[in-house]
Amino acid sequence: MKTQPCERCPKPSKVHLAYGPHWYCADHFNRFFEERIKRTIRTNRLFKPRDKLLIAVSGGKDSMTLLHVLAKEYAKTNELHALIIDEGIKEYREKAIQIATDYCKKIQVPFTVVSHKEEFGFTNDEYAPLILDETLPGKGACGYCGTFRKTIMNRYAKKLGATVLATGHNLDDEAQNVLMNVFDNHLDKMMSLSPRADTIDNKLVVPRIKPLYETPEKDIVAYANLNHIPHYAEECCPYSFAAKRNDFRLLLNQFETNYPGTKFSLLRFLQDLKANAKPMHKSHELKTCEHCGEIAVEKKCQACQKKELIQQTLKSHSTKTLTRKNPKNRSCNQTKRM
Ligand code: AMP
Ligand code: ZN
Repeated sequence: MKTQPCERCPKPSKVHLAYGPHWYCADHFNRFFEERIKRTIRTNRLFKPRDKLLIAVSGGKDSMTLLHVLAKEYAKTNELHALIIDEGIKEYREKAIQIATDYCKKIQVPFTVVSHKEEFGFTNDEYAPLILDETLPGKGACGYCGTFRKTIMNRYAKKLGATVLATGHNLDDEAQNVLMNVFDNHLDKMMSLSPRADTIDNKLVVPRIKPLYETPEKDIVAYANLNHIPHYAEECCPYSFAAKRNDFRLLLNQFETNYPGTKFSLLRFLQDLKANAKPMHKSHELKTCEHCGEIAVEKKCQACQKKELIQQTLKSHSTKTLTRKNPKNRSCNQTKRM
């Protein structure tokens, strides 16, 4: 492809965004990237000055970029704190946590590391192989891990006095969610997708926000590389290869290559649908878990139900040797480079 000049100045472009199309030099790309996130925050009223933000940081490119941009743009108006969850996945998460904690220290954002082991009594390495070999029910380890992660996030948001909880979910994640819900015929779930998830009682559940939900993953990779934001990029989670989401990621990336703008179209489709459709009320009565006090639909919350099941299964399998099984032909197909 022939080199184009930046569309805002005479310098040669460094970044080409096919969906625009846009050609930007490094400075103008940075400005474009940061302004878009600020616009998402403003137009969706994700938070206001003086809100205390808890940022869920995994050490991956999305949440490290989110941390970087929020610290750069909002440290003067908002108190920021990072939450790093250690699921107990040898090597993979250990390295990511090191990168995340080092960066928090460097940019002076206070942080808290919380482990599944301390909160629930077991690590992912202890129970995930039991899901993969079908001893524990479920379509993959992500369902369990995601439930535990959500519970920890909400628990610590309350403990730390945060008024919003920010995650690094990006446009690709949201476009995948739309498509997955269409394929699964889950209209109610699709209609509840939002850059800001509020419940009736914000004291029980801290609102979760997605400031990157209009930012494509590829742009995040470019921004992280241009700005030398450290992040863990060596491999994806050793237990996520079976996730259905990986097939949707692959499909959408193929469409985006052939038809640039597909991911934005899916997001705009959802936004138009939500603006024009009647609200779908499928709200459950709000209860608190009788074990841990978190939000629950039944007597016990999802996390406590899953915790109990894992504890019982681990007891009866204490002698079995557990291994990770990641067939070489499956990968998470994440965008690693521009
Ligand atoms: P993922 O589902 O892995 O794409 O993660 C989505 C978002 O959840 C990340 O961008 C983070 O904000 C948050 N997250 C995932 N894993 C962790 C973790 N171990 N610690 C803190 N936040 C996490
Ligand atoms: Zn509970």
